[in-house]
Amino acid sequence: MEIKKNYSLKEYNTFGVNVKAQYFAEVLSENEIDELLHREEFRNVKKIILGGGSNILFTRDVDGLVIKISTKGINVIEENDETVLVEASAGEQWDDLVSFCVQNKYYGIENLTLIPGTVGAAPIQNIGAYGVELHDVFVSLDGIMLESGERKMFDKEKCRFGYRDSIFKSKLREKFLITKVVLKLSKQKHLNLNYRAFHKYIKKNDIAKFTIENVRDLVKKIRMSKLPNPKEFGNAGSFFKNPEVSGEQCYSLQKRFPDLVNFKLDNDKYKISAGWLIEKCGLKGKREGNVGIHKLQALVIVNYGDASGSEILSFAENVQSTVRKKFDIELIPEVNIY
Ligand code: FAD
Ligand code: NAP
Repeated sequence: MEIKKNYSLKEYNTFGVNVKAQYFAEVLSENEIDELLHREEFRNVKKIILGGGSNILFTRDVDGLVIKISTKGINVIEENDETVLVEASAGEQWDDLVSFCVQNKYYGIENLTLIPGTVGAAPIQNIGAYGVELHDVFVSLDGIMLESGERKMFDKEKCRFGYRDSIFKSKLREKFLITKVVLKLSKQKHLNLNYRAFHKYIKKNDIAKFTIENVRDLVKKIRMSKLPNPKEFGNAGSFFKNPEVSGEQCYSLQKRFPDLVNFKLDNDKYKISAGWLIEKCGLKGKREGNVGIHKLQALVIVNYGDASGSEILSFAENVQSTVRKKFDIELIPEVNIY
């Protein structure tokens, strides 16, 4: 395993921010992870785990060791007539796992087609799209405590999944390295076609004939028509989460803004569309130098050129402050900021 010094991370984050890592190592196996974590020279060095870099904003050079996870392997570990347990290594591309499941007609993650990044990062923010979240199919994960080297298994409850959230974004942030994830999928046909964006593409009489492959193709089509490709313009998908507010706050906002886009949640709170809030502030398509908000997606902040991470962060902070002033709502970043 080669340890690189003062290594540029520009090609390793989808914002395309050009920062340097003091040390950088790409690990291809769990043995290499163990070997790296046991090296005396890195014992007290800060460690940042990197998957595909599609949900990360580096605002400065990394003073420490960046561990790029590239371990591979997708295996069926248990199955019966109805369900199957699939175990995948952290370095697998998430979409390769979706493709494997769709090819084998294992139902459950087809709506999560084309989400960039790795399997190991999927539990970090409980990835979700089109009405499905990772926790719907999640069984457990394995990993290593970075400081002690202790191996640990987390079941669903221990992960404390929330909306784009988990224990790995709070208490265990920068403390735990995920090595494997186990999902439980259905072998019986079960599709989730409730999401509003699907409706205009699926005719009522076609629904029964819809296949898992049709869902994957449809999600591909919708995503490719709406989302900016990071290879064209640097971005990390949605920069902010959709805020959750009380019924009272939602009602008073609705009185002022009858077109407010909101969704009632199970916990009696209301999810407000962050994209709508940003658009209503007149910020959609706004550009300052090399940073801007995408003209079609108000939630996506774009690096149009060689913007630095701190320029992107300061642009995002201005968005937060404009939304705060107009709506008295705090937008929380979804992207992991370093
Ligand atoms: P990285 O960006 O490399 O890392 C993200 C965080 O996880 C960092 O804090 C990192 O330290 C940590 N981490 C990564 N791997 C590990 C590991 N093995 N162990 C411990 N910690 C780890 N997200 C959604 O939920 N739904 C979407 O529909 C969606 N669409 C997107 C579309 C675009 C165009 C883009 C650019 C992003 C989108 N995202 C979406 C966000 C992103 O793809 C996901 O959050 C994804 O899971 C990030 O994976 P990654 O490997 O790139 O993580
Ligand atoms: P969209 O379909 O235009 O919807 C806009 C917002 O409304 C989304 O944030 C979505 O919340 C919410 N929404 C729509 N229908 C809903 C319902 N029935 N119940 C509750 N909330 C509902 O969104 P989009 O921007 O094109 O994205 C499509 C899907 O891909 C969304 O699920 C989105 O989360 C996901 N996506 C995520 C990222 C990311 O980086 N995190 C990037 C691109 C797309 P949810 O976000 O909770 O679904």
